[in-house]
Amino acid sequence: MKILKFGGTSVAHAENILKVVAILKNQIQNEPRLIVVVSAMGGITDLLLTAAENAADKKQEYKALFETIEFRHFEVIRELIPIVAQSAIISHTKRTLNHLETLLDGCFLLGELSKRTKDGIISFGELLSSYIITEALKVQGLKAILQDSRELIQTNDHFGKAMVDFEVSNILIKKYLATVDNPLVVVPGFIARTQDGHTTTLGRGGSDYTAAILAAALQADLLEIWTDVSGMYTANPKLVKHAYPITDITYQEAMELSHFGAKVLYPPTIQPVFNSKIPIAIKNTFAPLATGTLITEYGNPKSNPIKGITHIDKITLLTIEGSGIIGVSGTSKRIFEALGNKNISVIFITQASSEYSICIGISDADTTEAKKALDTVFAFEISQFKIIPCAIESGLSIIAVVGENMKNYQGLSGSVFSTLGRNNINVRAIAQGASERNISAVIQSSDTKKAINSLHEKFFEEDSRQLNLFVMGVGNVGERFIAQIMQQKHYLKAHHKITIRIIALSNSRKMIFDEDGILLKNWQADIENGIPSNIHIFQQKVKAANFRNSIFIDNTASSAVAEGYSYYLENSIAVVTCNKIACSSSFDKYRQLKDLSRKFNAPFLYETNVGAGLPIIDTVKNLMASGDKIHTIQAVLSGSLNFIFNNFNTENSFYDIVQQAQAEGYTEPDPKIDLSGIDVMRKILILARESGLAMEMEAIENISFLPESSLSTDTVADFLSSLATNSHHFESLLLKANEKNCRLKYVAQLKNGKASVSLQQIPKDHPFYAVEGKDNIVLLFTERYNEQPLLIKGAGAGAAVTASGIFADVIRIGNN
Ligand code: ADP
Ligand code: ASP
Ligand code: MG
Repeated sequence: MKILKFGGTSVAHAENILKVVAILKNQIQNEPRLIVVVSAMGGITDLLLTAAENAADKKQEYKALFETIEFRHFEVIRELIPIVAQSAIISHTKRTLNHLETLLDGCFLLGELSKRTKDGIISFGELLSSYIITEALKVQGLKAILQDSRELIQTNDHFGKAMVDFEVSNILIKKYLATVDNPLVVVPGFIARTQDGHTTTLGRGGSDYTAAILAAALQADLLEIWTDVSGMYTANPKLVKHAYPITDITYQEAMELSHFGAKVLYPPTIQPVFNSKIPIAIKNTFAPLATGTLITEYGNPKSNPIKGITHIDKITLLTIEGSGIIGVSGTSKRIFEALGNKNISVIFITQASSEYSICIGISDADTTEAKKALDTVFAFEISQFKIIPCAIESGLSIIAVVGENMKNYQGLSGSVFSTLGRNNINVRAIAQGASERNISAVIQSSDTKKAINSLHEKFFEEDSRQLNLFVMGVGNVGERFIAQIMQQKHYLKAHHKITIRIIALSNSRKMIFDEDGILLKNWQADIENGIPSNIHIFQQKVKAANFRNSIFIDNTASSAVAEGYSYYLENSIAVVTCNKIACSSSFDKYRQLKDLSRKFNAPFLYETNVGAGLPIIDTVKNLMASGDKIHTIQAVLSGSLNFIFNNFNTENSFYDIVQQAQAEGYTEPDPKIDLSGIDVMRKILILARESGLAMEMEAIENISFLPESSLSTDTVADFLSSLATNSHHFESLLLKANEKNCRLKYVAQLKNGKASVSLQQIPKDHPFYAVEGKDNIVLLFTERYNEQPLLIKGAGAGAAVTASGIFADVIRIGNN
């Protein structure tokens, strides 16, 4: 015999009920008898509860809620039952609904709602659904009979979550089944009755339990829980997109997962079937062919030692602390007794090994009562200042990592906590069961989604990583960067197991956000429809999104944007930037950002600050990390100045070339930043700092080739026109170099701890002579590369190579 239970969503509407009918029609061909337990139609129990509470609060709204309840049931009857058969069913349902209405009116008149009445009212959900479904099955030609579960399951009078009397219930169930011979018996879930005939309920989600009680009493071969997902998942599929169904799991694992929040199975469900070893299958009504989850004694020991990750929201942590509990036996007993007497269940407990404090996790709803109970039980110790009054911390969640086999693997709990730490998730308390089947931690509720996703990524996604990008600046570089992401998406997923999502995009006017990842197809148009851009709102949104592997990307040249890096790093958000301002500002600022990056475990990468996509900074970092020392750096680091001096000849004026370079995007928006040498100074400064020197910008010698009248201009236009006015000055620089068969190159140098930048005449035999176009070249003389320098050369300017440098930094983070 088999017991099947269909949950709220499975019976929520006529369309869904027809799916249930199809499953039953299919199964009845192979089984002589099916017991079918049904929940209330999805959402009805909540509506009943709100209606009852409103009525008791004297709020007229309960009437509208009642009408909704009535409408939903009649709607299903109209859709499932042929017109000729409808009137009898409608009038039976109407009678039941009238009874419900009378109870609600009673609550309204009395202005009160006892726990007993509440149970009476919410039992109508299952009473109505089971009746209508039975009739629908009959219409479909199935020999179904309805049996009220209150005549089968007897409980005590703990209304709201009554305890089952198994001895009596088992007899009632077996006795009843012996008297009927219908192949399909429909039973309402969730509801039961006390010995003296009052309706009780088994706790929210309790229809699963009803089915398990029947399965155990009847020694069924299998208990099938039909719901709206394809099994028990590695994590709640509503929170973790990549979660997947666990095919096999043990009773204990399933119990831990459900106890710690996997709502798909009501926690007490396992207990009745566990002793008789009746397997539980969790199946999807909307995908009946999906494998689902099989819960048995053995599970699958060969699979992942971690089976799932769950959480419970709305947790309060109570701390009892003080010298009065050290070495005093019976403290825990007094705590549990005090809470137990108030029916407060303890979800989590840890005790410091010093025994100085005990931490208890309970449901937020129980806080006031729990504190009162504990402060009362320890009133004497509190008056003697031996125990501090119970401290309360709310707004917390418990996350739990569950797996029977975790005990056989070293270092798993280390991995759990380092994964949380890396994502800046503060752990308030930790508990690891002696069975080592469960590692749980208390964290801020606002971190729950991030925590579960980070852990899921770590333990279930085969080293795959999702990177969440927040991009500021979509000009030349940004635009190319986005294009590269679109182009490389599939490759990255297939070869690096990296998924990149852009969550936010901003230009100087507008910004857009999409927590599911912006569809990049029409981003230009989308951004125009965005909200006005604002650096601070952008920052707050990045923080509020609270995603794992968050990366802020600065594709601007703005100092206001650079000011924000510390904010991101402090919130464990990585920063990738091509903007040189931060790294070339004061050494203290540079140091501070590096320190924040280390402290908050947030990468800060700026490879493109020097030589665009060329791996210059990375090389210097690697040399330093491996113990080498850098003596001298000689470099041509300005793609723009290279372009200008490579194209400047006797036929073209200096002014024309600079204008061309600016038009083609080879210079900074203000070309004076390039021509005055500031840009190159920033670059050599950054290289000096990466080489271990605490250098400031002022220490760099800059022998400018610009005439004074160009240097003293204030606007871009004035600067450009000063180049035209001083054309002779530039021509003479060129002629002097030509006379010596030399080429003009703008060279940066770091030697003996001193840095300088200047325009130099480079002879034919020097490696700089042949540097063409926008190329950069860097010679690194180090302890290891003493005679022959380490040489890095290649395209060092332009939006495309800069974008690919940014991209490389992002991938560095992804691969780390
Ligand atoms: P039913 O009404 O069928 O009893 P529930 O809503 O009680 O269904 O339980 C199914 C829901 O449980 C899923 O829709 C899902 O949102 C939630 N859930 C939470 N954690 C898990 C998990 N680990 N695996 C599967 N579902 C889960
Ligand atoms: N209808 C009840 C509830 O919503 C029981 C169940 O669905 O399992 O809690
Ligand atoms: Mg359920």
